[in-house]
Amino acid sequence: MWVVGVIFLLSICRIGLNKYREYAWQEEMYHRGIKNKVIVIDPGHGGADPGAMVGSLKEADINLSLARELKKELEGTGAKAVLTREDKGPLVPEKKMSYVQWMENLRRRREFALEEKGHILISIHGNANNSKQASGGIVYYTQFNKNNMRLASNIQEQLNLYWGADNDMLEKGLSVIAWDKMPSVLVEAGFLTNPRDRKVLSSYAGRKKLARAIAVGIKQYCDGLPEQ
Ligand SMILES: [Zn+2]
Repeated sequence: MWVVGVIFLLSICRIGLNKYREYAWQEEMYHRGIKNKVIVIDPGHGGADPGAMVGSLKEADINLSLARELKKELEGTGAKAVLTREDKGPLVPEKKMSYVQWMENLRRRREFALEEKGHILISIHGNANNSKQASGGIVYYTQFNKNNMRLASNIQEQLNLYWGADNDMLEKGLSVIAWDKMPSVLVEAGFLTNPRDRKVLSSYAGRKKLARAIAVGIKQYCDGLPEQ
């Protein structure tokens, strides 16, 4: 009988501990400062999914290079940054995906952010448009999390400063950010179809500056959170 009692007590402790961890994580998520924040960076597409293609330029590769730079910039501010994917790995499709598989892949990327106990999710993409004139960065957000709009607006402002643009951030229920677990935005960093943007996105120096602009936006968002 006492064995059952001990197991019962242990399971109560376990539930208590999980609740506490959940509470601590939520507390950190919405308190001021970027230091020790876990920022999950999702380089869009990858593997058999190249994303937008312009000439020999693959969006998936640009996304990964930019995400790596962003990780460095964020770590420089004292944050912890993790990528959902590298060139290969469990989240990188080896074969062309059906729509259902694609949705599942995006769900697993969100799930990864949760497993990492992320405080912020940033999905990095490169844009494409039929018009070569379209340029600059655009940040997409949903209304699912109360802080998404402010995060999006801080990053949008920095992207506009960087590109010398006045693009608006846009509300759109994109699958990878369509949840409420943590503030999440999708950053279309620039247009691969615009000659000037493409030059920046395909150069190391350009990506470094662009990553810095995104990191400044994220830091401003974190600094604007309420005091503990
Ligand atoms: Zn994309």
